[in-house]
Amino acid sequence: MAGAAAAGAAGYKGGMQRPAQPTATVEIPEAATWESWMARLLRRADAVGLEGEVPVAAVVLDRRGRCIGWGSNRRHRHQDPLGHAELVALRQAALLRSSWRFNDCTLLVTLEPCPMCAGALVQARMGRVIYGTGDPKRGALGGCLDLSRDPSAHHRMVVRGGICGDQARVQLEAWFRRRRR
Ligand SMILES: [Zn+2]
Repeated sequence: MAGAAAAGAAGYKGGMQRPAQPTATVEIPEAATWESWMARLLRRADAVGLEGEVPVAAVVLDRRGRCIGWGSNRRHRHQDPLGHAELVALRQAALLRSSWRFNDCTLLVTLEPCPMCAGALVQARMGRVIYGTGDPKRGALGGCLDLSRDPSAHHRMVVRGGICGDQARVQLEAWFRRRRR
């Protein structure tokens, strides 16, 4: 059909034409909470680092600050290209809530998310993302590119980096140094 072919050539128009507005509805407490969670994540990251994984850990908190998903890198252990800490935590939280929407939640992670994870967080409508150290080479929330502000993002997340950033950076640098030896 000529009409359908023409529509196909023009490309899918998407469900929403309006520019993305902030849609986060998170209410959880700030600052001190982030740092205490980040300290726990760094300890977990350290443990998986000793097992040969890149030391990254993540947690999903609900609107009241309760942990609903928890993850660390398991790419090597499971030989899973999707085994990044953020996706592991996100899957666990989705199973627990029987929902793929996270507008009222916060994800904390020790390293700025890569393009795969940042894309998944936008798709999951994550309300807020807090990360430790930025990643100028692969970070996709402002470090190398910013998928949260890309025109393709139909959802605006609140993003904040640098929470325990120095500790997270030192931990990763030490891990890569050890691995190079
Ligand atoms: Zn990732």
